[in-house]
Amino acid sequence: MSEKRIENVIIVGGACAGYTAATYAARAELEPLVIEGFEWGGQLQNTTDVENYPGFPEGIMGPELMTHFRAQAEQFGARFITDDATRLELSEGGIQRVWVGDDEHLAKSVILAMGAEPKRLGIPGEMELAGRGVSTCGVCDGAFFKGEKVVVIGGGDSAMEDSIFVAKYASELTIVHRRDEFRASKIMLERAKDVPNISLKTPYVPEEFIAGDDGKIAKVRLRHAETGETEEMEVGGAFVAIGHTPRSELVSDQVDTDAAGYVVTRDGSTRTNLAGVFATGDLVDHIYRQAVTAAGTGCMGALDAEWYLRDTPPSPEAYWVSRAEAATA
Ligand code: NAP
Repeated sequence: MSEKRIENVIIVGGACAGYTAATYAARAELEPLVIEGFEWGGQLQNTTDVENYPGFPEGIMGPELMTHFRAQAEQFGARFITDDATRLELSEGGIQRVWVGDDEHLAKSVILAMGAEPKRLGIPGEMELAGRGVSTCGVCDGAFFKGEKVVVIGGGDSAMEDSIFVAKYASELTIVHRRDEFRASKIMLERAKDVPNISLKTPYVPEEFIAGDDGKIAKVRLRHAETGETEEMEVGGAFVAIGHTPRSELVSDQVDTDAAGYVVTRDGSTRTNLAGVFATGDLVDHIYRQAVTAAGTGCMGALDAEWYLRDTPPSPEAYWVSRAEAATA
């Protein structure tokens, strides 16, 4: 019976972070295996125009950008499994095991890049009008709403951040929140309140996003959280900013995560608490969450893995030394 191949590195996740890690790892001749997921491409797969990814002054469609990312990794020899990882058994500096259904894959290192999902309201029209006026990323899509009347749903820092950004383009912006108290930090709430074209509407719960004849969002139906009265508001855009869920469920009992489930990395690197396990992208980042920042940490993950493998079998001390040497080289 032939012995099972032990990969240098398995990358779990096929989007900005995972494909960038794959390109770097492939160019370092590590022959990475990417478990890219059945629905590869991550959040950009549901995005239309991307105008803020460097290198594309004319803008590019989200799915097309992901196809480029993937092709770039492939041309340097990355291999892909277009299916979901179903189980991971991570070890401290040993062999890392990743299952896709019944198929077990072994590796000396693993780069986690499973991303995060924006939380959804779960109301009618939300998914149907995604990309047609309903967005989950103000920084990505705000500029498409020039002169429009828009709503931002949510009461946390993300809602404030998105509102302040989107209000630069929108004619009027209403922050709709389900309670009279805001979860957002005082400073962010005050900043949002100080913007002349931003107003607050509480306590209201969105019930439905309604399309106009052109198939784009035209109205949002709101229900007063206490009286139950409903009203319709005419809008040209709606941003759902109610938080994100990191896709850490396969590893959350094996690597350190924070209270919200984001994987914790160390000292500005992609290292987790387990030697040989690296984490990148939106799985780690609850603040910036941009395609370009996810790609940046994907690059870091591949370099961290390469440094780790160079010293294999590593002791944590050896790894520290190699990083210190690399930093001063
Ligand atoms: P968050 O703090 O969890 O806030 C989510 C907001 O959405 C809450 O106000 C919540 O209402 C509301 N919400 C949740 N589910 C809802 C639903 N089904 N219907 C209506 N409303 C719903 O999430 P976040 O704002 O994304 O922030 C996450 C973390 O990132 C925080 O630590 C935040 O400070 C940080 N962050 C910081 C910055 C910054 O400093 N510039 C920017 C962005 C994010 P309730 O309050 O009623 O639960």
